[in-house]
Amino acid sequence: MKALRKSRPERGAELVEMPMPAVGPNDVLLRVKAAAICGTDIHIYGWNEWAAQRVKLPMTFGHEICGEVMEVGSQVSHLKPGDLVAAETHIPCGVCYQCHTGNQHACESMKILGVHVEGCFSEYTSIPSICAWKLPDGTDVELGAIMEPMGVGVHGLLVDPLEVGSVGIVGCGPIGIMTAQVAAYQGAYPLFLFDINPERLEMAQRIVPQAVTINPAKEDALARVKEWNGGRGVDLAVELSGSVPGTRLAIDMIRMGGQIHLVGLLGDPVQINSCNDIVYKEATIKGTTGRMMWKTWWQMDRLLASKQFDPKQVITHRFALADYVDAFELALSGKGGKILLFP
Ligand SMILES: [Zn+2]
Ligand SMILES: [Zn+2]
Repeated sequence: MKALRKSRPERGAELVEMPMPAVGPNDVLLRVKAAAICGTDIHIYGWNEWAAQRVKLPMTFGHEICGEVMEVGSQVSHLKPGDLVAAETHIPCGVCYQCHTGNQHACESMKILGVHVEGCFSEYTSIPSICAWKLPDGTDVELGAIMEPMGVGVHGLLVDPLEVGSVGIVGCGPIGIMTAQVAAYQGAYPLFLFDINPERLEMAQRIVPQAVTINPAKEDALARVKEWNGGRGVDLAVELSGSVPGTRLAIDMIRMGGQIHLVGLLGDPVQINSCNDIVYKEATIKGTTGRMMWKTWWQMDRLLASKQFDPKQVITHRFALADYVDAFELALSGKGGKILLFP
């Protein structure tokens, strides 16, 4: 089979011929129908500091996929050939304190598909059955491939029960826009979307027309929030930009007693004045990681069944796996939304 492999510690990757993956007793063999490029994959392809610290070469990367079950291991009884599944890319150990207390998504020994174990930018892949989410029959494979990133936003938004109130979402990449779609569907009002990239902001406005879009590089973001929100900050700010200014904006834009959910991955430290930013404001700051297993997936199941919004709108480009160089160069340029690969 063909697989997109990272063999050298430098920018790029190679499409190589590989033996079919082994299927252990608890694994499922999938034929990959569609895969999506994640920020993580861009780090790995571009080989930055983040990737160099985590990824052991050689490695097939990629983790956001929809696949058809071809074969199941001897211990797997809940899936059968022909089933369509999406991959939950976080592999919990199943035996640590977190896993034993209903928090597998925050496992102490978490492994990630395509980072710590062989990934999915390949014609076939074998994943632990504990990471396979069965999709309803007839699910669009493109939707299946973007449920993992959608789940990051759903968990980041709904980790605390959302009061139907004002919400600000910082960062309008694909996850930010999908999060905004869910927030709008849940009745968030006013709903503010922030990005310093005008193209992304335009895309967000097109997909979520009821939102107020704000470019903090060009306008006084806090003044605009207050102007739309009765002179107050928002009830909930969700930070998805993974930047220092974005995190600062999330902290500054909440009302007294408001909530901040940090989801974006920030490499640099951010300064917080605990007195003004948290104590006097009675602010709640909560971090979220990945998706709850499997609460977030059940939430997505219900949200998608409503058919009131279509997350596939964030997909802007589709490439054959063989054209991966074009796909990754586009992804590295920061242009476009979600990019799909078809093995
Ligand atoms: Zn991802
Ligand atoms: Zn664990």
